[in-house]
Amino acid sequence: MQHFPVFMAVAGRRIVLSGGGEAALAKLRLLLKTEAHVNVFAAQADEQIIKWAATGKLTLHPRPLEAGDAMCAALFYAANEDEAEDARVADLAHRDGALVNVVDNLADSQFITPAIVDRDPVTIAIGTEGAAPVLARAIKADLEAKLPATLGPLARIGKGFRKMAEALPFGRARREFWGDYYFQAGPKAVETGGIDAVPAALEDLLQSHLAKDARSGHVDLVGAGPGDPDLLTLKARKALDAADVVVYDRLVSPEILELARREAIMVDVGKTGFGPSASQDTINASLVKHAQDGHHVVRLKSGDATVFGRLDEEIDALEAADIQWRIVPGITAASAAVASIGQSLTKRDRNSAVRFLTGHDMQGFADHDWRALAGSGEVAAIYMGKRAARFVQGRMLMHGADPATPITIVENASRADQRIVSTTLALFASDLDAANLTGPALTFYGLAPRAAAAQIETISKEVAL
Ligand code: SAH
Repeated sequence: MQHFPVFMAVAGRRIVLSGGGEAALAKLRLLLKTEAHVNVFAAQADEQIIKWAATGKLTLHPRPLEAGDAMCAALFYAANEDEAEDARVADLAHRDGALVNVVDNLADSQFITPAIVDRDPVTIAIGTEGAAPVLARAIKADLEAKLPATLGPLARIGKGFRKMAEALPFGRARREFWGDYYFQAGPKAVETGGIDAVPAALEDLLQSHLAKDARSGHVDLVGAGPGDPDLLTLKARKALDAADVVVYDRLVSPEILELARREAIMVDVGKTGFGPSASQDTINASLVKHAQDGHHVVRLKSGDATVFGRLDEEIDALEAADIQWRIVPGITAASAAVASIGQSLTKRDRNSAVRFLTGHDMQGFADHDWRALAGSGEVAAIYMGKRAARFVQGRMLMHGADPATPITIVENASRADQRIVSTTLALFASDLDAANLTGPALTFYGLAPRAAAAQIETISKEVAL
């Protein structure tokens, strides 16, 4: 982040602008929304600027800016659309101690003006550090369409009501009340009775929330998917939006944790296949404790919570403590990984079943399991399988599997650093060693990436001929 967004207090302070043309007008339209004293220096000013000056909206000095004119200004804009003049006035404003922006000149600007969605007092600023103004405009248009025009007045009325709402207990009860007000009761009151109907509706809403029984906490057992935040379900996002406490594993990507409610307590239980981790008992106890404190707990697990997630142990603990829970499904690593190689997990005339295996348990695999897997066309998705590669290879070959059986390892599926290693059973362990994978990896036994698969099929046809 090269620019840090802040909201600056400008009420009653001076903002000085040099310029009188189009660029000046564009900036002034924004600046006049503020309660700052806007001063414009322009030997020739657009008619609109003259009008604004006549109605007292700004002060116009009909001459070029000179030393001392930007003294005590909070912000200064050079908007002359003339490089030399902008450089001259920017230099003077610098000396006067103002923060300087040169319009359309990122390099010489100390601050930049974001695209703004204005629902005063709710203000949304969008910036791309000059990289993609088109994108900023698109996001602005999207938000403009999404946010009701009444949001501003609702927020102003809501602000005056904050003290009264303190009758509700701090935390979830109060949050639910405000959520209800801004997105349901408030807009509905405006629709039926106009802004004047809002205070009474707010009063009613408070009474009904006060009457509601204080509900106890509950736990959402949420699948966070393979890593790409776009692969989260809407339900998972909503749960993250509402969470008081988020308990997460190490495989849950930082981009997804970013989506949790700002005030949520984040509990890292760092559970991976092999690394150090909080014990399952500690995790269970933490879930129970936070729920008993009345919190909405989100237990985030990578992929789908029901696949190699030790979910049942957590559910047992919650049941034992009489705590409500629900499962929110997610996209499991096998689904994401198979998508990345353009294949299907099952395919007519190839395999009508697919096994999900964990490398952890393979030592306990019975002989008949290996024999079944060694047949032609079989497909397995092996989780936590990196360390078991040599073992799997040995057993499969021993049970008569074809050494040319395709094997594909997908590391960091769906993430920016995704890597795909395509090999065969014969070379599985050595190719995996050579690839030196460090991230979570899913191994497909019996599947090759689509392009490689086509090649293998051609070769085997040639051999048959
Ligand atoms: N519940 C998870 C699996 C947890 S076990 C799920 O449904 O995906 C952890 C194993 O999942 C890792 O060792 C790895 O084999 C696999 N895994 C998880 N995320 C992955 C990813 N983004 N890419 C590849 N494999 C992944």
